[in-house]
Amino acid sequence: MIYKNYNDILSILIIFTFINIVQIINGHEDKILALEKRIQDLEARQQQYPEVTFLTYKDRKRILITGGAGFVGSHLVDRLMLQGHEVIVADNFFTGRKRNIEHWIGHENFELINHDIVNPLFIEVDQIYHLASPASPPHYMYNPVKTIKVNSIGTINMLGLARRVRARLLFASTSEVYGDPEVHPQKETYFGNVNPFGPRSCYDESKRVAEAMCYAYAKQEGISIRIARIFNTYGPRMHMNDGRVVSNFILQALQNEPITIYGNGKQTRSFQYVSDLVDGLIALMNSNYSMPMNIGNPDEYTIEQFAFKIRDLVGSQAKVIYRDPVIDDPKQRRPDITLAKSWLNWEPKVLLNDGLNKTIAYFRNELLVKQHSERNVFFPNEWLHSSNVNTMKTTKNIEL
Ligand code: NAD
Ligand code: UDP
Repeated sequence: MIYKNYNDILSILIIFTFINIVQIINGHEDKILALEKRIQDLEARQQQYPEVTFLTYKDRKRILITGGAGFVGSHLVDRLMLQGHEVIVADNFFTGRKRNIEHWIGHENFELINHDIVNPLFIEVDQIYHLASPASPPHYMYNPVKTIKVNSIGTINMLGLARRVRARLLFASTSEVYGDPEVHPQKETYFGNVNPFGPRSCYDESKRVAEAMCYAYAKQEGISIRIARIFNTYGPRMHMNDGRVVSNFILQALQNEPITIYGNGKQTRSFQYVSDLVDGLIALMNSNYSMPMNIGNPDEYTIEQFAFKIRDLVGSQAKVIYRDPVIDDPKQRRPDITLAKSWLNWEPKVLLNDGLNKTIAYFRNELLVKQHSERNVFFPNEWLHSSNVNTMKTTKNIEL
């Protein structure tokens, strides 16, 4: 009898408990749904990386890129990461942006060091791409003493590092070492026509002394060096207000503001798309050639032609206006790339219109960004073949 009552009480208790649980679940359904949504959001926010090639320890290199958060450096980071190398960026973010490389932060092959290369850096690496230096005239003229320091003391520090760890160093030199050239097109054997005492001299002369340092370290210390004389380069991730002709003209055309030509517009430049430059830099680094080499696109335009071309590509109604010329502005510039063709089997592939259209698309999106959380991220072509690319929610620009 007692036993039967006990069973009844137990059954009643179980039924009550069950009813309670059902009531609790019903009452908290909203909370459970909210929790599920949060878990989904957190999962979606988790960083996804594109597939990188697997390299064994024999082929995988540890590569330092100074200035890797800048325009050119960030594209180089992408390429070397995708190739499967370990990449370390040292940058002080003077003109670079974390945003350019944030898609790699947290990846096991990637490291970002907030470092001013005017101070020594002690790490273990196999190769150094030494790119740290402001590159656009307004940026390098903003703090000319610092520009001289980064290219002189900074380069000494990087050469010192290369000597200590027996790494190969590629120095990002510039067509500015030819100054306002009297020889056209410019061959590497031309010594240049540089004003040592003018607004551009902080950049031109410090790049020249950096080349001389590379030569001295190679000769005296046996360091393996490569010197790329880079000609005007453009593409996505250029800084909006770097004041260079490509970004200025595109932004002016997009906003229907007057397109400002400095001087009469008869000065010439030859423009290379950034992916061509990256191909050239990697080919030079891994070549046997240790003398300076031009890396640029010989397709030459007057600045006036360039202004109208950009206006047409944007489809803008902007006026083209003429302003005072800038001091020591080189009148003509075009690389002779015979050396790069024969030693590296390299030449630019991207046509100006194609490269400009990609850059215009990038700047168009850049203008749409209205708050910090919005991203205008550029992902290169190779990522389209990556299995993860569809999961990258921040993508706005995918190169097509
Ligand atoms: P950029 O300004 O976008 O990038 C330069 C990077 O160097 C930035 O990330 C900046 O923060 C970093 N930097 C500057 N000073 C530093 C310091 N003291 N310590 C650490 N980091 C520092 O310029 P870019 O167009 O990417 O140019 C890269 C390199 O290529 C430069 O050396 C430049 O002289 C050379 N170059 C570029 C062009 C071109 O058309 N873009 C042409 C010729 C040469
Ligand atoms: N330039 C111009 N308008 C601008 C910016 C630049 O006419 O808004 C000219 C500049 O005077 C130079 C050329 O465009 O002749 C390239 O300038 P940039 O600053 O891009 O690079 P540079 O080759 O002079 O280092």
